Amino acid sequence: MTERTVVVGAALLDAGRLLAARRSAPPELAGRWELPGGKVEPGETPEAALVRELREELGVETEVGDRIPGEWPLRVPYVLQVWTVRLLPGSPDPKPLQDHDELRWLSRDELWDVPWLDQDIPAVREVATRLLAS
Ligand code: C5P
Repeated sequence: MTERTVVVGAALLDAGRLLAARRSAPPELAGRWELPGGKVEPGETPEAALVRELREELGVETEVGDRIPGEWPLRVPYVLQVWTVRLLPGSPDPKPLQDHDELRWLSRDELWDVPWLDQDIPAVREVATRLLAS
């Protein structure tokens, strides 16, 4: 049997910009930028995991939209799947509460100004192609 754990990432979009989050831990990932998210827990849907992770990590209330087609391998046994997400009306602005020490809203032109985690790059490229106007 193949053990496989889905890590969900958020393409959190607002006014044509994508939220990028800089990891503060663990040491091997610190300083690199990612699509915020995390592991889906047993019995949890990916959408519920995203809402939970974004509330924990960023203090925001969100609604999950469409999945970005594709799936990207992380270290075994993890695979990254990405969904579009928007802030619900009245949600607090995102703040780096846990796992991150800085956030940036990136326009299409700024997308590659930050050092993304290597494994997030194909997903970010896909988001850019599909969702961010050039
Ligand atoms: O945030 P959490 O620790 O639950 O994420 C699980 C693992 O998935 C992390 O160790 C990280 O390496 C990876 N990850 C990633 N890209 C993301 C989110 C998480 O590579 N956008």
